Amino acid sequence: MTISYNFEMERVIKEIAERGVERVLIQLPEGLRPKALWLTRRLEAETGVRAYISGGTCYGGCDLPLHEAESLGVDLIIHYGHNRMLPDAGIPVIYVELRADFDVEELLNEARPLLENWGSIGLASTVQHVHLLPRAAEILRRWGFTPHIGRGAGWTPYDGQVLGCDYSTALSIAEMVDGFLFIGGGRFHPLGMALATGREVVAADPYTGKAARIGRGEAMRMLKRRIAIVEMVKKARNIGIVVSVKPGQSRIGEAEKLRGELEKRGYRAAIITLDVVRADILNDFTEFEAFIDTACPRIALDGLPDLRRPMITLQEAYIMMGVMDWGEMLRRSYPGGGWKRL
Ligand code: SF4
Repeated sequence: MTISYNFEMERVIKEIAERGVERVLIQLPEGLRPKALWLTRRLEAETGVRAYISGGTCYGGCDLPLHEAESLGVDLIIHYGHNRMLPDAGIPVIYVELRADFDVEELLNEARPLLENWGSIGLASTVQHVHLLPRAAEILRRWGFTPHIGRGAGWTPYDGQVLGCDYSTALSIAEMVDGFLFIGGGRFHPLGMALATGREVVAADPYTGKAARIGRGEAMRMLKRRIAIVEMVKKARNIGIVVSVKPGQSRIGEAEKLRGELEKRGYRAAIITLDVVRADILNDFTEFEAFIDTACPRIALDGLPDLRRPMITLQEAYIMMGVMDWGEMLRRSYPGGGWKRL
């Protein structure tokens, strides 16, 4: 399936010219890094700016290279691949969402046999393809289904948009639909949606051109794995609370509160700060028998393959301490969403 990305060159060039900036830092997600040289040369040639490429991570709109930008003394960050999550702090940021186009009907044809026994279908996607949801709704309507798209708000401002830490648009329509059709890459988001909403999800992936159904069985298997990990962490006595220094993931206040709650219950806890949370770094802290991830919930839920001790999310820590039960957390949205509302 042919996918074309919109780099919004005209807008970016205009904004650079209007702002009169001289030095910019470009931040690209992994999949688009093969375009970094082309992009840098084009921006430099068209605007006269000096452009630098950030080699750090670019996980989301939560992950801005503010420290790099400060140390380089650039006037502007150009962040590609996500929408704004944070207000500008010091250095201004332009967001280019990299909307990706493809033939929606071709992809929906792949998904159609998996939708057959549904009448009412919720639609969801990541920011890259969210603009294609009205077209997908039109096709579904033509095929006799009743499509619904949840209203965007907060960190997911676009109708139907979901994040790995926020499924609120899907949750808002869960009661009205028989299941969800997710349009986007990978299994993490559709699995998260299945857990958050309690509905089956058909994942239609434009990068593979394939569709797959994520049933209750798969969602329940993931939940059982999480319950088992929480039980393991409960038995630990020494716990490391991982705090990210990424601007949109830093939860130092939550981490301090959690440390107090753990210590009240007899655990020994300390806070470990990191930019990129990596297994090899955490493995060096051999006193800790378990870790609690207060940063992006995907770190714990996707799992760090070589991490030698169990890791749970901030929400799961409150389940472990008996402050919240699984039912409540699922109602608040799992794996994401609720972690911001503790
Ligand atoms: S916290 Fe994680 S899931 Fe949420 S936007 Fe950032 S990288 Fe994505």
